[in-house]
Amino acid sequence: MPLNLKDKVAVITGGGGVLCSTMAKALASHGVKTAILDLNLEAAEKVAKEITEQYHTPSMGISASVLDKKSLEAAKLVINEKLGTIDYLVNGAGGNAASATTKAEFITDDVLNNLDDTFFGLEADGFDKVFALNFQGTLLPSMVFAKDMLDKKQGSIINVSSMNAYTPLTKIPAYSAAKAAINNFTQWLAVHFAKTGIRVNAIAPGFLLTNQNRFLLIDEKTGEATARGEKIIRNTPMERYGEPEELTGTMLYLLSDWATFITGVVVPVDGGFSAYSGV
Ligand code: NAD
Repeated sequence: MPLNLKDKVAVITGGGGVLCSTMAKALASHGVKTAILDLNLEAAEKVAKEITEQYHTPSMGISASVLDKKSLEAAKLVINEKLGTIDYLVNGAGGNAASATTKAEFITDDVLNNLDDTFFGLEADGFDKVFALNFQGTLLPSMVFAKDMLDKKQGSIINVSSMNAYTPLTKIPAYSAAKAAINNFTQWLAVHFAKTGIRVNAIAPGFLLTNQNRFLLIDEKTGEATARGEKIIRNTPMERYGEPEELTGTMLYLLSDWATFITGVVVPVDGGFSAYSGV
């Protein structure tokens, strides 16, 4: 059975970023036409240019916010005109912010005089923003771009979850709650769409060493793992970080015709992290 990816049209939100630019390139390498949608137009256009040059597959960068339905609808018109109607959506835009992060991991006697560093210092506004980016930022693009799939009676959506969805990491409650909501929403939408020909699945990346988190995980001076980095590796049975490229096989498979009876699943791509109790 062929994968049947060639000449399909995919929208990749957050496509200017680290992981989703890699996913977009993997799609292009299989002949998928890619719309790289990002708040950052320059980043999106750069990825589209690299794709066109490297894979000779049509690609375009486009600016829109996954939190602004009108901007997504405007982007859809341009994508439809330039690439055609949409078959696939990768909901990749997401992330955390300092305003939704506690400084302290635990409430201990040491921090009782400085509760601002704990749960009690979190600002509702920061919490809302992170929750919205990760949750509404998946909800709204699905509403806008799945319309084409409904008309065609076929299509496939991939949401991007996280290890935080299963067991939250310390310090980042809004991000964790939003990713847990993504798992639940993936199941809900898969059922809601089950009779339409549209499938909805998610991937949950484990720990990847990217430019954004390298300074947190590797000590710049010594090149050794930081305490947080050590903990991650200790809790990853494969004892290493993943590479962004290692997410692409699961994404391609779930989007493709190899997965026509699969909907509503979240696949961890994590070197065993989510399976391991630590004992
Ligand atoms: P990244 O920061 O490199 O990319 C995110 C992109 O989203 C950026 O290009 C940014 O401009 C864009 N963006 C932000 N707000 C937007 C908005 N409102 N509208 C449109 N675009 C917007 O992040 P990444 O590390 O590549 O992560 C991609 C996805 O993978 C996220 O959902 C993240 O939560 C998830 N994830 C990442 C890791 C990791 O280790 N990096 C692990 C698990 C899950």
